Amino acid sequence: MNKRVKIVATLGPAVETRGGKKFGESGYWAGSLDVETSANKIAELINNGANVFRFNFSHGDYEEHAARMATVHRAEEISGKKVGFLLDTKGPEIRTEVFEDGLESEYYYKTGDQFRVATKQGQKSTRDVIALNVAGGLDIFDDIEVGKTILVDDGKLGLSIIDKDSDKRELIVVAQNDDKIAKQKGVNIPNTKIPFKALAPRDAEDIRFGLSQPNGGINFIAISFVRTAKDVNEVRAILEETGNQHVQLLAKIENQEGIDNIDSIIEAADGIMVARGDMGIEVPFEMVPVYQKMIISKVNRAGKMVVTATNMLETMTDKPRATRSEISDVFNAVIDGTDATMLSGESANGKYPAESVKTMATVDMNAQQLLNEYGRFQFHTYDKSNVTEVVASAVRDATKSLNVKLIVALTESGGTARLISKYRPDADILAVTFDEKIERSLMINWGVIPMLTEKPQSTDDMFEVAEKAALDSGLVESGDNIVIVAGVPVGSGRTNTMRIRTIK
Ligand code: PEP
Repeated sequence: MNKRVKIVATLGPAVETRGGKKFGESGYWAGSLDVETSANKIAELINNGANVFRFNFSHGDYEEHAARMATVHRAEEISGKKVGFLLDTKGPEIRTEVFEDGLESEYYYKTGDQFRVATKQGQKSTRDVIALNVAGGLDIFDDIEVGKTILVDDGKLGLSIIDKDSDKRELIVVAQNDDKIAKQKGVNIPNTKIPFKALAPRDAEDIRFGLSQPNGGINFIAISFVRTAKDVNEVRAILEETGNQHVQLLAKIENQEGIDNIDSIIEAADGIMVARGDMGIEVPFEMVPVYQKMIISKVNRAGKMVVTATNMLETMTDKPRATRSEISDVFNAVIDGTDATMLSGESANGKYPAESVKTMATVDMNAQQLLNEYGRFQFHTYDKSNVTEVVASAVRDATKSLNVKLIVALTESGGTARLISKYRPDADILAVTFDEKIERSLMINWGVIPMLTEKPQSTDDMFEVAEKAALDSGLVESGDNIVIVAGVPVGSGRTNTMRIRTIK
């Protein structure tokens, strides 16, 4: 059995060598990227099971991301396998400002210490007044209520807002615990609606940059802090304007507003990322597994893709082995129905990127084999009031009752392969595509192995192309049963035909 659960691995300095130095060695950042050595390391990640690489635009500049993307293309040549490219937007963030010149770069506070937080933009921080930098240059003073909590640096420090000084536009806060504040640390203010623009100008620029990269550009965009369907639609408009409709949009759900609007967001997006990092700060963290299960099951039912992200093998950022609970977490996400599991710091700036991918791949494989036994899919309750759903469901049934080695889906837009994946059949899904952009856009979908061939000219030709692709893929041999799924006539855009053949 091939690995059907996909792995999204975040890329960063961990896999790169600069000027002959590895990340962590002194002088690393001073050197220029050693493309060949770095590409070999990335190829190791691909060979260990990485299907998609994530480029996190919260960090790094264009030069760094462009070089990283080019290095991945070289890694594809080395490994002989293609991957997907995912751009993750910075999103509407709030961060602590830099400190006034000559002052400390971080300050420690004790529980009960009282100080101020300034919302006016363009100000620098001091020990007594920590300034905020808000995306889009918003002054959020009027949006924040006394009684709310400000969480700094992933919630490491909590600040209770006890009063507001409207003359100075400063919040009076009291530290809830002992910790420090450094410059440019993430800030969350749970249950506070901040009127960010749907798409920050900087995110739009980053997206245009990603789309214009060589070799077809990016294939997926993960949109940070999606609150409503409008946030997705604004990005979709850029795809339409630039002729990039094939790019798949993943809405990152990371706060209460996104959770509250989950149904309309799923409808607008091509998939969802359960962004548990920020979610665990924005909502009570005890609720994260509840929302994870709720979101995955809704996305599965919609036949879209879902990625479960953050802290999956966190310990492996520093250590060669994960904890038992992390292993269980990855396993359970697969059992919940996730299409892909994601690595963040583990592969981006950890000490064991290749080992992290390998561990995740092993756990994903173990879990996928037990999906029938422990999974909670309720296919019988899915809406099958149209032909394509009926065909996809019948494909699943065929793989249950016949010895089917491979499903071959001829798919112009990728839609047929995605629909078959929705029903989690008991065979790999070879998605035969006719455009490399579509091929790459299928890298996250559970069980789908995308492949590129010439487009068939006629319906008869279609079945020959499917059989040849199956053989060329190396996934079948003479005598194996395959199920071919397609829309007839060619290019009709409707999945309406299923044919069972034995390879000659
Ligand atoms: C998250 O918060 O879980 C997440 C995936 O987003 P980021 O890593 O960009 O904060």
